[in-house]
Amino acid sequence: MSHRISTPQPTTSAQAPPPLRWHGLPVPQLAPWSEERVPPHTLVHAWFQGRPRLGYGDEVAAVDRVDGVLWVRQALRRGFGVPDLGGMHALRQRRAMKRLLCQVCGGVTEGRLPGGRRLFLVRAVEGHPVGEGERTASPPLCPPCALDSLRHCPHLRRGHTAALVEEVRPWGVAGLVHHPRTLRRIPTPEPLTLVPYGSPLLDWTLAARIMTTLHGCTPVDVRELTARHAWPRSGEGEGAGRPLPAASKHGTRRHQS
Ligand SMILES: [Zn+2]
Repeated sequence: MSHRISTPQPTTSAQAPPPLRWHGLPVPQLAPWSEERVPPHTLVHAWFQGRPRLGYGDEVAAVDRVDGVLWVRQALRRGFGVPDLGGMHALRQRRAMKRLLCQVCGGVTEGRLPGGRRLFLVRAVEGHPVGEGERTASPPLCPPCALDSLRHCPHLRRGHTAALVEEVRPWGVAGLVHHPRTLRRIPTPEPLTLVPYGSPLLDWTLAARIMTTLHGCTPVDVRELTARHAWPRSGEGEGAGRPLPAASKHGTRRHQS
């Protein structure tokens, strides 16, 4: 079983669609929309790769499992309904974190900064720096998207910390842990429980986020960083990055993820 974060492929504008807007605000690719619901499902005792685990009654392992771990199902209807600007779509988070794509525009972040480093931005009311080995569910950003996020995201305006990161390591998942016998969800104070790779709890977890740890972290001021260069967005190319008309209150149909 490999948890290696794969090397991203070169991005074209077709892979990184232009940002959707909601009442004039750019909507990050990561944000879930109200019509991207979790469909009804039945959890069962399954047998997978030689041991009992949590499964779906109508499971399709090639789609429902990643590295043997069962994942939450969530509709892909980006642009339908109302966006939750502070939320994360489980499957887009997984894709962005696995390939280290910008969480806002969806473009590659590899090769955007000197030394192979990547820019991470996390909420931090106290403004503490990103620590060595800090766990995060937030994928990286390209510099212009980080600046946009600081301008527009009320959560980040309340406090944030940014770092240039040399290495991103897989750590585990965040998800809903179920009792191995009853399959009832084990209540926890937090909405999602953090489960490291290698834990026996992984077999009974419905994963909703990939968690990574950040290493070789250097604090950075995003405004200073972006002021030094005229950076295009990771996904910018022919036709990409043009502002879209504001979405109607029923949402604007755009790209599927
Ligand atoms: Zn970006």
